[in-house]
Amino acid sequence: MKDTFTHQGMRKRLVETLKKKGIANKGVLQAINAVPRHLFMDSGFVDHAYVDKAFPIAADQTISQPYTVARQTELLDVERGDKILEIGTGSGYQTAVLLEMGAVVYSIERQNELFKRTNRFLPKLGYRPKKLIFGDGYAGLEAEAPFDGIIVTAGAPFVPKPLLAQLKVGGKLVIPVGENVQIMTVFTRTDDTEFEKEEFGEFRFVPLLEDKE
Ligand code: SAH
Repeated sequence: MKDTFTHQGMRKRLVETLKKKGIANKGVLQAINAVPRHLFMDSGFVDHAYVDKAFPIAADQTISQPYTVARQTELLDVERGDKILEIGTGSGYQTAVLLEMGAVVYSIERQNELFKRTNRFLPKLGYRPKKLIFGDGYAGLEAEAPFDGIIVTAGAPFVPKPLLAQLKVGGKLVIPVGENVQIMTVFTRTDDTEFEKEEFGEFRFVPLLEDKE
């Protein structure tokens, strides 16, 4: 588990690539610069850790493309101390980016193998989410609601109602919606019953599946 100057140099270049692709939020760029993505990848892919691409992790899942992580985090509009719920912990990379930004993070994963692995792994790097949960993200996390932001890192065939219900007024849900291709969609809660909806282009994610495995 090493982070060398070479890795740091590659991360700087990745940050430059993300800037060129339109990521402007300084906090997001700093977080990407800080998180050693290569340590979140399966050993066979470590050499590609700072290429702007998604790669396989355990249980047929993927670590999202850095651009996607950066864009979703930017759209979430995270401020220090914000209470954030992530659906789809996976490798924990997005979780680490949120923690670098000073968020208080709750994250749900439905694959037990990934849940256990990431639960052991994050503290080794000094990343301490408030809670990692083995469960079904469709239900959100009623016990800890409301949240300043909710980020879904798998493709949702529809927008789960509990996720909207668990937002604070002013809070945002960032969710890729669609079956084969997803439209990155942001819902901002404007009052008790109203939400503003905005769309931010096409992305491709592994599917948000129902029930735990
Ligand atoms: N944020 C992750 C992305 C992993 S891919 C990362 O940075 O590595 C999406 C993840 O969502 C997978 O781990 C998958 O198992 C998980 N997932 C799919 N459906 C889910 C659901 N209903 N509830 C919680 N997690 C889910």
